[in-house]
Amino acid sequence: MNETALLDDVPDLAVLEPSRKAASERADLWSKCLTRLAQALPPQQFSTWISPLQVRIAPDGARVTVLVANRFKLDWIRAQYAGRIAAALEELRGAPVTLELALAPRTASAPSATASAPQARNPAAIPGAEFMGVSENLASHLTASAEEAQPPESSAAANAGTRTRLNAALTFDNLVEGSANRMARAAALHVAGDPGRLYNPLFVYGGVGLGKTHLMHAIGNRLLQTRPTAKVLYIHAEQFVSDVVKSYQRKTFDEFKARYHSLDLLLIDDVQFIANKERTQEEFYNAFEALLAKHSHIVMTSDTYPKGLTDIHERLISRFDSGLTVALEPPELEMRVAILISKAAAEGTEMPEEVAFFVAKNVRSNVRELEGALRKILAYARFNQKDISIELAREALRDLLSIQNRQISVENIQKTVADYYKIKTADMYSKKRPASIARPRQIAMYLAKELTRKSLPEIGEQFGGRDHTTVLHAVRKITGERQQNTELNQQLHVLEQTLKG
Ligand code: ADP
Ligand code: MG
Repeated sequence: MNETALLDDVPDLAVLEPSRKAASERADLWSKCLTRLAQALPPQQFSTWISPLQVRIAPDGARVTVLVANRFKLDWIRAQYAGRIAAALEELRGAPVTLELALAPRTASAPSATASAPQARNPAAIPGAEFMGVSENLASHLTASAEEAQPPESSAAANAGTRTRLNAALTFDNLVEGSANRMARAAALHVAGDPGRLYNPLFVYGGVGLGKTHLMHAIGNRLLQTRPTAKVLYIHAEQFVSDVVKSYQRKTFDEFKARYHSLDLLLIDDVQFIANKERTQEEFYNAFEALLAKHSHIVMTSDTYPKGLTDIHERLISRFDSGLTVALEPPELEMRVAILISKAAAEGTEMPEEVAFFVAKNVRSNVRELEGALRKILAYARFNQKDISIELAREALRDLLSIQNRQISVENIQKTVADYYKIKTADMYSKKRPASIARPRQIAMYLAKELTRKSLPEIGEQFGGRDHTTVLHAVRKITGERQQNTELNQQLHVLEQTLKG
């Protein structure tokens, strides 16, 4: 790969500086870094993980922020490539470089970097794009989805003159129940009905788009229905961080404390965002202690279980785990069907069951994606004035389905799984049998069955000519274990998200 081609590949080098020379130096730094990485990594890894990255580089080049499309990719890149990227940058720059990873700011359905370029070039459109003077890690300013951070106010929110930040539209009534969320939902209902007693704190974890935020708002809304004067606050952990920072800057700590420590119910979303924020963690710990002592309830969500959190103080983590910890799993087929039918009904449209099955079979990863697919279908049907049918759904979701079919090959699965478990791709076809290799191989077979349309014999063939019964055994084994073993389930979820892009 030559350098010109690589430069064309650089999707978005946001240039925040007027100085063209400085900007071109920075562009050069990144393109050289890409060249290095292209040489060091297998082409498939480079094209999957590295070339789509967007970067922002501070004027002096000392701080580089890599923007990644979603959290799964972010974790993956942090684990697999961050060290290498930082090392290449430092070597090229000849001086230390602080590498940061952050989620790319969301732009209206703009998965590709080029589509988001005009916005990215406008510094005003990017909160936290200024590198100077940001005391906390920049990542925290770039992540959140706006709707989570600032949901529309609940009508009950005017209670006692405090803002609850609850979104009245997210309730238990429109939270479809299934085996994936049964436990979490039951615990949440219990807390909403009798806060401050059992399951305190309630810690809910699960992947993106599985209903964590919805569940939290549902708890708050339900409590306010029965106790309109209860003091409830929903807050995204990022907002909490920024509240802490602000109250330090403005020396308004007493107000901060009065506000947080007086709550009856604190709902704090995505607590993984307080990682590495020392002061925030301290304040959170204080609030935690104060609230638990007066039997107020705390509900938290996170993308991982408490012990899986990194860069958060041990004493906080053990606090997190001291009530009830429950997982939200990716919804199974029947639940996805039920969600589609119920969301269509909420939009005043009846979705035939066979269409819901068709969509649910093809859109598997999370509820947010299901909603996106549904929106497309409804818009398509309205625009073309057609009834909803499988044919129509297929047309409406053409892009999505073709992306899926194009991207997920057995080969791709083998490489991704091998990368993830740090074995050689060749071991996917080899006859070796130690568990450290056999298990990832079984996982790859399972994913091949789940994510491609290949038959068992075809999959066996691609795994070094193995018999279809071997594949079947692997699929059954991993399917069974997945239901019992939350850690495996999380890993599979990460792999699925990764493979689906
Ligand atoms: P998370 O916080 O886990 O990323 P959200 O709570 O934001 O996920 O959920 C994503 C979307 O899916 C939201 O619009 C939410 O209302 C919807 N959703 C999630 N789970 C369910 C469910 N069980 N029933 C109905 N809608 C759901
Ligand atoms: Mg959320």
